Amino acid sequence: MDYTIARRRMVEQQIVARGIDDPRLIDVMNKVPRHLFVDEGLRGHAYADGPLPIGHKQTISQPYMVAAMSAALGLQGHERVLEIGTGSGYQTAILAMMTKRVYSIERISTLAARARKVLDQLQISNVNIKTADGTIGWKDQAPFDGILVAAGAPDVPHEYLVQLIIGGKLVMPVGGYHQQSLIRITRLDKDQFKREELMGCRFVPLIGTAGWSEADEI
Ligand code: SAM
Repeated sequence: MDYTIARRRMVEQQIVARGIDDPRLIDVMNKVPRHLFVDEGLRGHAYADGPLPIGHKQTISQPYMVAAMSAALGLQGHERVLEIGTGSGYQTAILAMMTKRVYSIERISTLAARARKVLDQLQISNVNIKTADGTIGWKDQAPFDGILVAAGAPDVPHEYLVQLIIGGKLVMPVGGYHQQSLIRITRLDKDQFKREELMGCRFVPLIGTAGWSEADEI
């Protein structure tokens, strides 16, 4: 299989055709080898229009969702971004190539280690990954210019609002256990936030102190 051709087709048909027009994002999506972030047996599907399993009941997000969330942050290149839910590390790689530094938190250590390995293999060195409960953010490294959460929560954890700079943006799925709305919150001032609903989406649950509990599984 020619992965370069498959990737170019993915970008044209799933990303550009659906209205993503940030040239830097399009360039990065054309470069990052998504097939390296999935198991060998799934590589033939790596550029298909959907999420794929990565083990531990988790998924690598649909390429369009990765692009739409990245675009919603409006990155210019100088930002420090907090990502919650490293998963395969694919979204991490996209963010890392579009901005200055990415701080990524994953609660499952095996996934965090696997993501680190692929990022190292690609010589992406502006990423800090830690295994922890990401619902409380990353206090030591805050504040952030952008926060991207790749798992669905019942509400916006308060710490994310606190850890955002004024002018910063938070993009995350909020709603039910199986179905959510992708929202963007912009911090306009110390206590003033603008909230926008971007689209419907389906993410795995954000599990932790300010998210769902494992016992909530339906
Ligand atoms: N964007 C990722 C990718 O492209 O591979 C996919 C992320 S996957 C949909 C969601 C991830 O969030 C899972 O790996 C899951 O273990 C993680 N997660 C869930 N709750 C978390 C929490 N409280 N802190 C950190 N990670 C969490």
